Amino acid sequence: MHMDLVAALDIGGTKIAGALVDGRGRILLRAHRPTPAREDGDTVMRAVEAVLGELTSGELWGRVTAVGIGSAGPVDASAGTVSPVNVPGWRGYPLVERVRAVTGGLPVELVGDGVAMTAAEHWQGAARGHDNALCMVVSTGVGGGLVLGGKLHPGPTGNAGHIGHISVDLDGDPCPCGGRGCVERMASGPNIARRAVENGWLPGPDGDTSAAAVASAARAGDPVAVASFERAAQALAAGIAATATLVEIDIAVIGGGVAKAGDLLFTPLRRALENYATLSFVRRLTVTPAVTGTDAGLVGAAAAALGGAAANGAVGLRSVVGG
Ligand SMILES: [Zn+2]
Repeated sequence: MHMDLVAALDIGGTKIAGALVDGRGRILLRAHRPTPAREDGDTVMRAVEAVLGELTSGELWGRVTAVGIGSAGPVDASAGTVSPVNVPGWRGYPLVERVRAVTGGLPVELVGDGVAMTAAEHWQGAARGHDNALCMVVSTGVGGGLVLGGKLHPGPTGNAGHIGHISVDLDGDPCPCGGRGCVERMASGPNIARRAVENGWLPGPDGDTSAAAVASAARAGDPVAVASFERAAQALAAGIAATATLVEIDIAVIGGGVAKAGDLLFTPLRRALENYATLSFVRRLTVTPAVTGTDAGLVGAAAAALGGAAANGAVGLRSVVGG
């Protein structure tokens, strides 16, 4: 029997998803549970165990060599702990140890969800073939991750590439992270909607004040809605330009619900980038939508597991991708 699969966990504030994934990134088995995000830590863990139980009980489990976890952050990969902002029952929670205990002592690789999405886009998506990339998720928050020198760069704790909390407005609004003028404070979906409402945008008869509703209004020509997307695009462009200038990326990939606004976001973003990415070595930077979609977290967790296994001398992501 081939030992050729990894188990992947994608842990978010609303859903815990699990899968068995092969060396080509194909998902062979899935399981999921809602995240009991308001419950105590052990109750949340029981939902993770229920997902893992569905994966370990099947006959494919014997082929699994490692477990990859992509979790809402912050995570601490060096300690094996997670403290997701939206799951208050988990603070410094020893997730890696708990997962190892129910998966027969397999190696467990933990990364933040932004890093997982980046691994997915580098393996299967828009950053494939790029050795230096920034990948971002723009939705209720703004997350991200880096590929540098052809390799995923999670950083010591698994949080590198956290572009949502780079300040792009020195005296800007306080951010829940404790900083000021963060990219997320201007570019996340809730903040796009908030700014539109503050500047006088009125929702339609259904009362929907989501970023998607603002996007619809912008498409219909509402100038306040358009301006809110332009401001978000400007913040993203400044953050992307800073990243490119620091570490020389040649592509920025943007996924998440806000990226679904398409040209409403990408056109002003590319325009704004011309104002911020000005040095010769960043001028050719391209910005493109993500392609891996809703499975990005699972595929990225699988990629992290395969990458971790490579570091331990077992089957490697590069050889898997190459073959
Ligand atoms: Zn912040």
